[in-house]
Amino acid sequence: MVEEAFDRKAVSVSTPAERPNQYYGELVFNRGTMFKYLPADIYTALVDAIENKKPISRNVADAVASGMRQWAIEHGARHYTHWFAPLTGGTAEKHDAFIEHDGKGGVIEEFSGKLLVQQEPDASSFPNGGIRNTFEARGYSAWDISSPAFILDQTLCIPTIFISYTGESLDYKTPLLRSINAVDKAGTAVARFFDPEVKHVISYLGWEQEYFLVDESLFSARPDLVMTGRTLMGHESAKNQQLEDHYFGAIPSRVEAFMLDLEIRCHRLGIPVKTRHNEVAPNQFECAPIFEEMNLANDHNLLLMSVMNEVARRHNFRVLLHEKPFQGINGSGKHNNWSLGTDRGAMLFSPGRTPKDNLQFITFVVNVMAAVNRHNALLKASIMSATNAHRLGANEAPPAIISIFTGSHLAKILDSLENSDTTDLTDLKKKSEYSLGLAQIPEILMDSTDRNRTSPFAFTGNRFEFRAVGSSANSASAMLVLNSAVAEQLVDFKNRIDVMVSEGKELNDAILTEVRRLIKENKAIHFDGNGYSDEWKEEAARRGLDCETSAPLIFDAYLRPSTVKMFESTEVLSEPELHARNEVKWEMYTKKIQIEARVLGDLALNHIIPVATRYQSTLLDNMVKLKELFGERAIEMAKCDMESIEKISSHMSIIKTKVTDMVEARKKANAIESEREKAIAYHDTVVPAMEEIRYHIDKLELMVDNEIWPLPKYRELLFIR
Ligand code: ADP
Ligand code: MG
Repeated sequence: MVEEAFDRKAVSVSTPAERPNQYYGELVFNRGTMFKYLPADIYTALVDAIENKKPISRNVADAVASGMRQWAIEHGARHYTHWFAPLTGGTAEKHDAFIEHDGKGGVIEEFSGKLLVQQEPDASSFPNGGIRNTFEARGYSAWDISSPAFILDQTLCIPTIFISYTGESLDYKTPLLRSINAVDKAGTAVARFFDPEVKHVISYLGWEQEYFLVDESLFSARPDLVMTGRTLMGHESAKNQQLEDHYFGAIPSRVEAFMLDLEIRCHRLGIPVKTRHNEVAPNQFECAPIFEEMNLANDHNLLLMSVMNEVARRHNFRVLLHEKPFQGINGSGKHNNWSLGTDRGAMLFSPGRTPKDNLQFITFVVNVMAAVNRHNALLKASIMSATNAHRLGANEAPPAIISIFTGSHLAKILDSLENSDTTDLTDLKKKSEYSLGLAQIPEILMDSTDRNRTSPFAFTGNRFEFRAVGSSANSASAMLVLNSAVAEQLVDFKNRIDVMVSEGKELNDAILTEVRRLIKENKAIHFDGNGYSDEWKEEAARRGLDCETSAPLIFDAYLRPSTVKMFESTEVLSEPELHARNEVKWEMYTKKIQIEARVLGDLALNHIIPVATRYQSTLLDNMVKLKELFGERAIEMAKCDMESIEKISSHMSIIKTKVTDMVEARKKANAIESEREKAIAYHDTVVPAMEEIRYHIDKLELMVDNEIWPLPKYRELLFIR
């Protein structure tokens, strides 16, 4: 099916004739397509390389490239690109046409294995945290054979990793893949305690993507939305989410048409989106796929975010992926549903049917709790950004503290395990196992209904849901920390069990002893109460959990000795890589705030002040006229106007002073050499000035004549009709 013809249809017809099974994955070079377009021996070699994580030979690469090109051209592709996720967030592409000289003055369409496997984009144009200064400017992008190529807008996209000339990662995929391997290795060793046949442990991710939609014309009239993705000013609308009438409500038909178009696009690209609904805030929505192997799931999320933007524009909407586009109503996150499973089909966070399965379940759950506890500050750093900072730790949002919610049933099981008598545990097949509750776990968890929306990291029956991830983030940032931390913990667990067993302890007994120790030692991270409450902040501090709220300081967690040790032992990131990546984090933080501050300054001085002045002089004119007509009586009559004039003056002069202060604060911060110190200065001096300016602008919005107010207001932006 040709892309353009299909797209026209999708936009104009709300119910396409074809069913999803007819077009699902048609733009993906998946197994079925490979089988069709590759010679049998090449297909077998490629599948073997994918499944067993092996490199492919040059011959195979050439043959794959040729089949891929033929398929892509038949599907309307004219260009190809290596598709990667640099540290800026988002994705990067550089398109090349499939043409080569034919030696006779014309061209042939060509695509070699060499071009498929590796390219050399200039790394100095991407954030690299100083790696380019010490080494070479060149970078490599290299084909990730585990994520299939796809066609997007007539371009064949080849998922790749992006590394520096000397091998340091300059992207998210490289360390994500390494972390997937680390947790595979460490998890397999532990899973073999329960099933010696296990060969691999697989990480899974099911993301739930929240977003806002705004009418295109209103979006264009808000320079702050256009340039920063969020409203830098705007008074709350009289109605927002207080009636809670939006969540799961009927989807407006315009939005439904957008969603259907998006779903069709996703399905053609092999993204298994399944769920869609309204979210809590007005104009806020969510979509979620069926979970997949983590690397693929993450590529699919990145792809979704770019496809979403494009589809929205065809429906005269703009998608806001910013974590906090509007003050005073909920922000957007990306819940990362994470789990581990074995190649033998066991889901490691699912309670099983036998006590042995349940001991495995408890083992993995408790190890996750230990890993999250040990690295809670780092996990927070992994989801922190200038944009997500507005959602976490701000006024109406979850705190910037990582804790785990287990629900009361699992909590009870952990309690009873902790307090049970060791001597009962020598043989799990004996009746004593029942007193531990290990046999009954499936039953109790199945009907477990307690859900805690205020927890950043919740156990939800067969998986953990990391909810603190930002809606615009690359989930890999959080997932690679989680995988690595769990891998480190599992290695530690395995070592301890091995020691106990070598000292003569029976295996199950050793496991239970260690599980019990971990439950005791990691109580601090377990919190089932209201995460939004002030009491929790105090309690968390008492427990020693990381309570830092300043984003630039939160990033320090990446450089703690315990972090460096964890990443080096799991071979996910080296110390130089960690330093380089943090430089980028601080720099990105500064740049984002800098842009916001500039936009806010401009809007304040060029849009708001002139309009407020104009309105003020209307009031003054009115007073003069009243005086002409009514003489002294006018003073009483114009009392109200007088008050407004004074208030407007006062807001305007504060705004002017604060804008000057903010510019000064920026100048001072810009002069700082260290990226870390600069980011701290932006956080401590520029951000508070911006908040104050906003406060006074929002007050003016309530006073100035609605007809001349220069920006669309919240009540217009937030209610799609
Ligand atoms: P809810 O909003 O109730 O949390 P959703 O249905 O919106 O649930 O999304 C749940 C997400 O979790 C989906 O992407 C789903 O595929 C995914 N998921 C379900 N089970 C697992 C699992 N074992 N591992 C990882 N993800 C899972
Ligand atoms: Mg969920």
